[in-house]
Amino acid sequence: MELEFALATWVCYVGLPCGLLAAAISGRHNAAGTGLILGMALGPIGIVAACFADGRRQCPACNGRVDGKPRLCMHCGSEIEWLGGHGRVREPIIDDRVAGNE
Ligand SMILES: [Zn+2]
Repeated sequence: MELEFALATWVCYVGLPCGLLAAAISGRHNAAGTGLILGMALGPIGIVAACFADGRRQCPACNGRVDGKPRLCMHCGSEIEWLGGHGRVREPIIDDRVAGNE
């Protein structure tokens, strides 16, 4: 009985407010669900952890975080081809005539 009361008190006064705040903080990096879980489980520590949560995709060339599915990486300028959720660097098409190898 006391354990249930302590758990309910934690959820109402610590878990829920901290979870919502952590979700708002990590939501700017597309990781609101992770932030909510961290905040509800860990309380104030989860809020700090949510500051480092990042659910954005990574550039396959430089591992920089990018928003959405950009065609060009904002960090290194690589051309990215997205297949499903994964990206790969698009190989440049080099024409031998243009490169002067012919
Ligand atoms: Zn990049």
